[in-house]
Amino acid sequence: MDSLLKHMVDMTGHRDHAMLDISVVAAVQELAAATQARVLSISTIGARQYVRVRAVSIRGAARIEDPHDTGTRGESLDAYPELAACLARRDTSAETCGSNCTRTLWLPIWFGDKAHTCLEIVRESPFPAATIHMIAGIVGVYRNFQNLLDYSERDSLTGLLNRKTFEDQLARMLQNPVDMAPPLTGRLERRGHHGEEKGWLAVVDVDHFKMVNDTFGHLYGDEVLILIANQLQASFRVQDRVFRFGGEEFVVLLRSTTLEHARRIIDRFRGNVEAYQFPQVGRVTVSVGFVSISPYDSPVVTLGHADQALYYAKTHGRNQACHYNELVERGLLQTVTSNDTAEFF
Ligand code: GH3
Ligand code: MG
Ligand code: MG
Repeated sequence: MDSLLKHMVDMTGHRDHAMLDISVVAAVQELAAATQARVLSISTIGARQYVRVRAVSIRGAARIEDPHDTGTRGESLDAYPELAACLARRDTSAETCGSNCTRTLWLPIWFGDKAHTCLEIVRESPFPAATIHMIAGIVGVYRNFQNLLDYSERDSLTGLLNRKTFEDQLARMLQNPVDMAPPLTGRLERRGHHGEEKGWLAVVDVDHFKMVNDTFGHLYGDEVLILIANQLQASFRVQDRVFRFGGEEFVVLLRSTTLEHARRIIDRFRGNVEAYQFPQVGRVTVSVGFVSISPYDSPVVTLGHADQALYYAKTHGRNQACHYNELVERGLLQTVTSNDTAEFF
């Protein structure tokens, strides 16, 4: 019992998903007298599901598999047929008996009809009923605490990631720019163009938003922000990241793609907003500044460049997306670090 309490205190003492994963694998491995416990991520890319190991504990030593390995898709779910069947029937657990009667227990963590995380516990003998009961309690705490952490990372109006998580996400993207795009044939069709693949940062700002508030009231203004957030999420890929930076400003991090493709998806989003009939409000437009991301520039500098391009878009007619490097090459922007970053930091 003491040991259980100690693990509960440890699990709930973190403010970070990776540390929470470490404490949960350490807890279940010790308390279930297991040989191994792992936290698995389950992701859907295109029509396929993938499994990636996030944290593992083997004989008392727990570790994060790779803290920045967010770019790889991992193994196909097909390699885990029992887990795939368990997920397909929306079940909360599945157990198998492998060679030498080794038992594997899978416990997907369900939020509504989605399970993005699963605990996997391996034991050399059957799981006693009391152990399964205790593990179910730990899974309940783990689930609640994950929910709480998600809540602290998201903006309450739009559900997008908040600014607090931006630097961490940018660092992850820079450390692991591997593409997670759908299978090869789809990719080639979708892109169909050559060019160097890079990560991109886009700053999006609603045009004349003050006028929306002044004319229709704050509640309609809020509704516009929610609808634009939905459009942002629908316009970019799952491996890209969309943030609300505050007010009517959003930031998008696009994982490795060519300039041509980045420009095309950003401009398609801009066009979709322009074409959308916002209830009561009617037409709303956005301006965008974007820049490639590089490990040699600090987040402040990168944001500053995107903000300079945004400022250019704002002062040259709005409702357009401007690329920082192109503006600099054409002599339309100076390469000085702008003071506009004061708006962000
Ligand atoms: P510009 O085209 O130059 O960007 O003009 P703008 O009117 O969009 O820019 P400005 O920065 O002058 O105004 C932003 C407005 O956004 C001011 C503020 O009332 C409104 N705003 C900020 N946060 C929220 C919010 O959460 N909800 C609503 N409804 N309005 C907000
Ligand atoms: Mg603004
Ligand atoms: Mg604005």
